[in-house]
Amino acid sequence: MFGKPKAAGGKLGIYIHIPFCRSKCDYCDFYSLAGQEDKMDSYQKALLAHLKETAFAARDCSIDTIYFGGGTPSCYGEKRLRGLLAAIKKYYQVSKDGEITLEANPDSVDFKSLKLLRRAGFNRISIGLQSARQRELDAVHRPHTVEQGDEAVAAARKAGFANLSLDLIYGLPGQTISSWQDTVEHALALEPDHLSCYGLKVEEGTPLAARVAQGERLLNDDAQATLYLWTVSRLAKAGYGQYEISNFAKPGFASRHNLRYWLTQPYIGFGPGAHSDFGGRRYSWLRDLDGYIKGVLEGGKLLDTEDLIPQEERGSEYLMLRLRTAKGIEEWEYRGTYFMDFGPIEERLRLFEGQGWAEKTAEGRWHFTPKGFLVSNQLIADLLERQEHARLSDLLPRAQARFQGRK
Ligand code: SF4
Repeated sequence: MFGKPKAAGGKLGIYIHIPFCRSKCDYCDFYSLAGQEDKMDSYQKALLAHLKETAFAARDCSIDTIYFGGGTPSCYGEKRLRGLLAAIKKYYQVSKDGEITLEANPDSVDFKSLKLLRRAGFNRISIGLQSARQRELDAVHRPHTVEQGDEAVAAARKAGFANLSLDLIYGLPGQTISSWQDTVEHALALEPDHLSCYGLKVEEGTPLAARVAQGERLLNDDAQATLYLWTVSRLAKAGYGQYEISNFAKPGFASRHNLRYWLTQPYIGFGPGAHSDFGGRRYSWLRDLDGYIKGVLEGGKLLDTEDLIPQEERGSEYLMLRLRTAKGIEEWEYRGTYFMDFGPIEERLRLFEGQGWAEKTAEGRWHFTPKGFLVSNQLIADLLERQEHARLSDLLPRAQARFQGRK
């Protein structure tokens, strides 16, 4: 099996991937399987073994976020979920105020199971509502109704979840500006503490991609941009601060686990396809349920990818990930951590500022505006190009000096 991760200290997040779903949604390219419930028990055995054997490497870490994502964790059965959380608490040092999130779909939760999960320690729930129009849910084969979404929110609140998030998707087939606005209003009436609003993406190999290839038309980029900018301003009025491109929260309710990805803080993932950034390495497990179970329980191949991350790559990650957040980037943070010149980056940011895409705060932090978030991929690609250029121009004189020193 894969060599043990190098021990590390400090704060750490744990991600548990539950790769089971009732059925597949047309747009989904996450690693998740429908109709494989018979494998849940062996998967549980593998996860428990993997958690136990990794614990030693994380013995000096304080676990301050745990995230059960998928797939659909809520269809895995509350008993198994409680078993996993109990094992994490047994083998790892979980902080008292740790954020412990469960992703759930409306059709696989009820008050009784949510109450048991809340009592076991889950303290945040993220419910996949996606749309308040049945026709739009049906158009992508979501496995639940709008009413089930409302009932799931009520059951979660009654079970004691004081930190509740809803996921919504804009750009669904058949959606219009006004039906999206209705969905947002419907979600606001449910009073979530956090909202994630994602633009629909047509991922290669999905049934949706096949439909589009056969001529089905979706909202174009301009229409999606209109929906996005309307959403940012509507949610701001309702008291939800935008802290990342697609994420909005009432004060104090930003997802600590998701922020750790964008702020490049360490985490360990468990399950097929799960990624980790731990002990100075980034690695991921096989995207194959049977292979993962076999790899853990019988010692076969388990590792899919593994990289040691050089400092300059960390510098690129800093730009790519931090600029997704409202916190943005700052000159001395960048210079002091990655030893790179901020000048060429700032020059471009000033240009972006002129276009209304970026802003500099009074504290000297640069961040994108909502208009900038819309084109963030292009803006970040531009900054990475400047960074690479600056790095190479810095390397050349150093290499020349070394060469001359040898003569
Ligand atoms: S429920 Fe979520 S993970 Fe499962 S198929 Fe649908 S989008 Fe994908």
